[in-house]
Amino acid sequence: MADQNHAAVETVESLIDDELLTRIRSRAATHDRENTFPEDDLRELAEVGYLRMLVPVEHGGLGYGFARVAREQTRLATAAPATALAINMHLVWTGVATLLGKQGDHSLDWLLEEAAAGEVFAFGNSEAGNDLVLFGSRTRAVPTGDGGYGFTGRKIFTSLSPVWTRLGVFGLDDSDPEAPLLVHAFLDRGPGVETLDDWDTVGMRATQSRTTVLSEARAPASRVFRKLPAGPSADPLIFGIFAGFEILLAAVYTGIGQRAVELAVEAAHRRTSMKNGGRPLAHDPDIRWKVAEAGILQDGIPPQIQALATDVDEGVPHGAAWFPKLVGLKVRATENARLVVDQALRVSGGSSLANSSELGRLYRDVVAGMFHPSDGESAHATVATSLLGPVPEPGSE
Ligand SMILES: Cc1cc2nc3c(=O)[nH]c(=O)nc-3n(C[C@H](O)[C@H](O)[C@H](O)COP(=O)(O)OP(=O)(O)OC[C@H]3O[C@@H](n4cnc5c(N)ncnc54)[C@H](O)[C@@H]3O)c2cc1C
Repeated sequence: MADQNHAAVETVESLIDDELLTRIRSRAATHDRENTFPEDDLRELAEVGYLRMLVPVEHGGLGYGFARVAREQTRLATAAPATALAINMHLVWTGVATLLGKQGDHSLDWLLEEAAAGEVFAFGNSEAGNDLVLFGSRTRAVPTGDGGYGFTGRKIFTSLSPVWTRLGVFGLDDSDPEAPLLVHAFLDRGPGVETLDDWDTVGMRATQSRTTVLSEARAPASRVFRKLPAGPSADPLIFGIFAGFEILLAAVYTGIGQRAVELAVEAAHRRTSMKNGGRPLAHDPDIRWKVAEAGILQDGIPPQIQALATDVDEGVPHGAAWFPKLVGLKVRATENARLVVDQALRVSGGSSLANSSELGRLYRDVVAGMFHPSDGESAHATVATSLLGPVPEPGSE
């Protein structure tokens, strides 16, 4: 067992000390089994300032950049992937507001101050069958005449459902059919906002990403923060949401991979072989290859996340190359994490099939990575267009 010390132990500076990480890890299996939101995790993380990480110091936050926050999210995800994924939503909103502020757009400064004061921000953007994602909406946004809007529609996968206090939504205002607008706003809980109890998935269960039904839910003028022409947009808001999501999603799923490597190493030391006189499988060349394969795959991603996150933090002008870079990172990280978990399962053997197995849970959680925007199809279309140019309309060649 002394060999276990051979696994590389990295000491990282983190808001989450080892004791807090252990407490969060100890609760993860229960929230997964009971399909409940990890309220204790959220409370303890808020206490150490986790929800204020991306809020600038002058607004009462910790002033971290995406590079630091990505490292924190990877560490948190090694203990509780669903907790990390749910909190991603809040972190992305605060990151968006900070990026806009850096560019002189202070329309979301109020969000930074509210986040510093303890409000929890969620994303109510996804809609069934909306593969235009941020460039179209099935939700109706109807002007109320005083600068505010009433939103009617169904938002799916609203993570943080039991606990959010501010919900970012968007919908289509087609009151001028010649110039339809996508209207972005924040809602409070209240009349017209209903959370269904319909989250029962195989993985990422503790995110409690339930359906939100909006029935003329009112956002006052002060909470309407963007109106963009329907269709693709290069608005800094879209860039901020996109960059924040792709980087922090990559960070969360990379945390799953990191934990899978740790569990593979433990399993290789724990399991023994009768064929080889009771020696641990850690001495078996085939098992060593698999553990090494997982390690090789895992090792490549964190530096990629750090590099791109630092570019976002420093405002490096990648221009049109930003989108292929960001989707590429998200796809590489989420797909890579699946491959790492797969190797770890092979090392760990059949016990990981048990519902009580942590690795079994990681196997269920890691699969969710492929569904987040940009999904494989959308990401490959983005990169293909960047490399090959757009496909011409039929007949235009
Ligand atoms: C764990 C997790 C957490 C997430 N958290 C958030 C979040 O907090 N906020 C957020 O905005 N998004 C969130 N997302 C949502 C994500 O961004 C995607 O929108 C989501 O995965 C849906 O993907 P899909 O379109 O492939 O699903 P699909 O399976 O294609 O569709 C989802 C549902 O819509 C129905 N549907 C599909 N097409 C149609 C149609 N044409 N007409 C009517 N119904 C249709 C399907 O039957 C299904 O019930 C989360 C996703 C995951 C996996």
